Amino acid sequence: MPETQNRQVVVIGGGQSGLAVGYFLRRTELDFEILDANQGPGGAWPSVWDSLHLFSPAQWSSLPGWPMPPVPGGGYPGRDHVAAYLAAYEERYRLPIRRPVRVEAVERAGDRLLVRTDAGSWMASAVVSATGGASRPFVPDYPGAESFRGRQLHSSSYRSAQEFAGQRVLVVGGGNSGAQILAELSLVAEATWVTPEAPTFLPDEVDGRVLFERATERLRAQHEGRDPGPPRGGLGDIVMVPPVREARDRGALQSVRPFLRFEPDGVVRRDGSRSPVDAVIWCTGFRPALDHLAPLGVLESDGRVAVRGGRSVRKPRLWLVGYGDWTGFASATLAGVTRAARSAVQEIGSALADAPPVNA
Ligand code: FAD
Repeated sequence: MPETQNRQVVVIGGGQSGLAVGYFLRRTELDFEILDANQGPGGAWPSVWDSLHLFSPAQWSSLPGWPMPPVPGGGYPGRDHVAAYLAAYEERYRLPIRRPVRVEAVERAGDRLLVRTDAGSWMASAVVSATGGASRPFVPDYPGAESFRGRQLHSSSYRSAQEFAGQRVLVVGGGNSGAQILAELSLVAEATWVTPEAPTFLPDEVDGRVLFERATERLRAQHEGRDPGPPRGGLGDIVMVPPVREARDRGALQSVRPFLRFEPDGVVRRDGSRSPVDAVIWCTGFRPALDHLAPLGVLESDGRVAVRGGRSVRKPRLWLVGYGDWTGFASATLAGVTRAARSAVQEIGSALADAPPVNA
């Protein structure tokens, strides 16, 4: 049985959020370690689909300290560019990351926390959970789904359009993933886009950078007690990246409302008509991967943790970073996680200021 390690701070997850937290922890005297379940660096990025590109330029997609290098030849960064940046980032700041280590449970141990993993245990005075959602793809319940004999996959398992060439494919979900996958599938397959309501498309000149600036300005107005005015475009609205624009221009960006139920060879639509279907790609998002926190009794009925800023209300030695706006404005983006990570580390520094040294 391996002995229990002692650290002042344990960070769970070594994706972009864990790295941002590590960057700020490095600038303190705190003794910390990052535990990451993946085999290699990059968090969710190395396993997204082949053609995925960020919807913001490189200089708007940077973690603290070191700007993302521009893409050679221009354009928005693709999957491999982002993954290489994250790998170089953890090297550059010599972040203490241990892989592969999967955290199975975080438990209370007096006024400290016990982190149980598949590679031994860690005792910590503070824990930061930064596990993202990639390991918890969400697929909604649909009547008859179990009877459908075709292929069903979540966007997290989608790789490229070629494997669906010539097939009848439903792309379900009205966000950016759905729009981007539909755009490339419609070139080689008979693709139908199913969305609960008509998707919201942003003007062509609005990219992730503009959305981020607008949202930051609204936040500032709220803090200063000014009326932020009506919201104009959200971070979930569809950014007209070049392949999506091209699909629109050829008339392929049409959507239909959800069908009634699956049957073995296809779906039944609301008007009773039947459509044969070979495959369904669920672009229906993710849920936060928080099961390891269940033993602490902090999971609420909606599967989240009650937080003030990023700090757990029920367990004040626990912080959450990078899960979405509920753990800090835009914290699930490369550009937005800095603020959440900095504030968590500042709070940890204050909370542990009077704590005894860990080996005492
Ligand atoms: P992840 O990248 O998922 O990393 C979490 C890490 O935690 C993983 O390495 C995992 O192995 C580890 N982990 C999980 N559970 C455990 C455990 N129990 N024990 C130990 N380790 C664990 N963001 C942008 O900024 N700009 C964009 O243009 C953009 N486009 C996107 C497009 C798509 C289609 C998608 C899906 C996302 C996009 N994002 C974008 C968002 C971004 O990719 C994610 O929000 C980001 O990966 C979250 O980073 P993270 O570090 O929080 O989580």
